[in-house]
Amino acid sequence: MSTQTVTLTGIQPTGEVHLGNYAGAIQPLLRLAADERRDVYVFVADLHALNGQPDPAVLSERSRRVAATLLACGLDRPNVRLYRQSRVPAIARLATMLGSVTSKGLLNRAHAYKAAVAANAEAGRDPDHGVNAGLFSYPVLMAADILGLGADEVPVGVDQAQHLEIAVDLAQQFARTYRPGVLREPRALIADGVATLPGLDGRKMSKSYDNTIALMGDAKTTAAKVRRIVTDSTPPEQPKDPDACTLVTLLRVFAEAHTVAEVEARYRAGGIGYGEVKALLADVIEDHVAPLRARYERLLADPGALRDRLAADERHAADRADEVLAATMSAMGL
Ligand code: ATP
Ligand code: MG
Repeated sequence: MSTQTVTLTGIQPTGEVHLGNYAGAIQPLLRLAADERRDVYVFVADLHALNGQPDPAVLSERSRRVAATLLACGLDRPNVRLYRQSRVPAIARLATMLGSVTSKGLLNRAHAYKAAVAANAEAGRDPDHGVNAGLFSYPVLMAADILGLGADEVPVGVDQAQHLEIAVDLAQQFARTYRPGVLREPRALIADGVATLPGLDGRKMSKSYDNTIALMGDAKTTAAKVRRIVTDSTPPEQPKDPDACTLVTLLRVFAEAHTVAEVEARYRAGGIGYGEVKALLADVIEDHVAPLRARYERLLADPGALRDRLAADERHAADRADEVLAATMSAMGL
């Protein structure tokens, strides 16, 4: 038996990777991957992204960009495999098979579906307006992503914790109905101390809210976005609470500790204006991302090399998932 821990996570190609994704998902993953005793599987969740019915050309370009982003950020390591979910056929087959051990009530209670129903209720629409079967059964596909690769641990944000519980639930249900020991039970790795990054309007930075700062944006665009971050109207000379300011929250991710401490002290004492903090923030973001962006652009400029890199990892992931699929099929009498 291998002593390696299998760690798995995915990111949806639903838009441009933003600073919140970086701080909340990519940086924590880099810290995990730094431990060679982990085999890390990272996938571009392109099947999940289909639920939003993206334009086909846009989807494939976004998938390529997400993959290049992950590599450029430092996941280009021997113990990391990067693949598109759609290129591991066993996952979709496993999802179909898991459907038989998934109670519909469980899916009725899943957060993403409940949120869609609640939004419809608020707007006075039919509860299932705009909800496709893909969105409804999203936790089943997510369980197949996890169980199909035999993951031990799955780093998730608080928003995804319930969906991970569903994956555990389905593994247990399968063990009771068919055979124990076929589908490995994963555990959630809920990162502590990882802040939810606010966006331009102060709400959670999110592709759906259109309030993001792109990770790989150029310096000018990023600076313009930073200038748009909403602050209150406290004048420069007055003391301010650093913990209540989006600018400081972002600084804490990108600036050196001594710079953050200095800014926090000046907030409390008074005598610092938001304009000055915004200029500083734009500079520290640019210092941090410039080398990442250079690697990202090099990767995108050579589509053949990126495709080959993905293809190798996709073969590896597909072989691994095929083994789980074969055991599952055998247990089910297929
Ligand atoms: P969408 O609006 O389409 O849901 P998103 O911006 O929330 O997109 P996801 O693709 O859902 O991004 O999330 C990818 C990863 O980034 C997840 O692990 C998620 O927890 C994390 N993440 C997303 N937004 C933030 C944020 N503002 N702060 C910290 N982590 C975040
Ligand atoms: Mg999200």
